[in-house]
Amino acid sequence: MTAPLVERLAAVMPALRGRLLAGQPLADLVWFRVGGPAEALFTPADEDDLAYFLANLPADAPLTPIGLGSNLLVRDGGLPGVSVRLGKPFAAIEAVGEGRLRVGAAAADKRVAIAAQEAGIGGFAFYFGIPGAIGGALRMNAGAHGTETADRVVEVYGVDRSGAKRTFSKAEMGYRYRHSDAPDDVIFTGALLEGELQDRDAIRAEMDAVAEHRERNQPIRSRTGGSTFKNPPGHSAWKLIDQAGLRGFAVGGAQVSEMHCNFLINAGGATGADIEALGEEIRRRVKETSGVELEWEIKRIGVAA
Ligand SMILES: Cc1cc2nc3c(=O)[nH]c(=O)nc-3n(C[C@H](O)[C@H](O)[C@H](O)COP(=O)(O)OP(=O)(O)OC[C@H]3O[C@@H](n4cnc5c(N)ncnc54)[C@H](O)[C@@H]3O)c2cc1C
Repeated sequence: MTAPLVERLAAVMPALRGRLLAGQPLADLVWFRVGGPAEALFTPADEDDLAYFLANLPADAPLTPIGLGSNLLVRDGGLPGVSVRLGKPFAAIEAVGEGRLRVGAAAADKRVAIAAQEAGIGGFAFYFGIPGAIGGALRMNAGAHGTETADRVVEVYGVDRSGAKRTFSKAEMGYRYRHSDAPDDVIFTGALLEGELQDRDAIRAEMDAVAEHRERNQPIRSRTGGSTFKNPPGHSAWKLIDQAGLRGFAVGGAQVSEMHCNFLINAGGATGADIEALGEEIRRRVKETSGVELEWEIKRIGVAA
């Protein structure tokens, strides 16, 4: 019989300094609060430790970066292979002059918005309402209120599957709506971002408006995964879902938010399967009523129970 993954990894990585744990429940780490365990969960001590880990990771071990889990649906059978979650050593935020911020991938978007305001750098207020961290924002090209991550990126830092530290220019990130073409096997460790110098009070007012908009329009205190589907060209996903008569529609413990139809919520006791089945039923009915094919924005990961 093959040894459990964590034992196999520990055997080939004697100098590992970070935390490597077997069978950690991922439901605790994602907004939906559903899903099975990670076969192995690695929290690197620093960038060198991450590079060492990836350089020695067997080629057959699946690898999945996890941020703050605000755009993730983990299936109930859990996540095979290694999940990598960056912690405090990757959460620094530093104003480096000329309207620029150097940020770690584990820095929460909201903290980046606050740091930018304190430094008098405009262009980051949209992050005040996005509940992820920078790594997820770099991967998803997170955006809101007319600004997206791509607008702020100068360059992005990461470590690839071979353990090589890489720098990607904005062009190399290949940004489109909620998408980056950067290789899937890269774990982003940070970025250099750029805004423009702006009056602190004006930025604060923008952030207040962002917070107020969220409070009024999104179920931000529910167990949700944010926008479930990308807006199809020329359409709003929420409108198509509403027109299909699905506001409040439920499958098991999963429900279409009454407040915002493109948000699914774990209304209590939902499984990952309930949420995914609800999403697929929405796609089917929207296709039936409007002819439009909705594409998942939420990343579904792992295996069914
Ligand atoms: C209430 C609510 C409101 C939201 N509003 C918005 C919004 O206005 N605009 C918007 O764009 N999104 C929104 N979202 C979705 C979500 O917050 C964003 O997509 C966010 O950028 C995800 O970041 P995360 O840290 O939570 O990443 P996760 O959800 O953990 O991961 C998302 C993806 O990024 C990858 N990833 C994470 N970290 C790294 C890393 N270090 N390196 C490489 N890949 C990585 C993961 O593998 C996964 O594919 C909302 C979500 C919620 C719950």
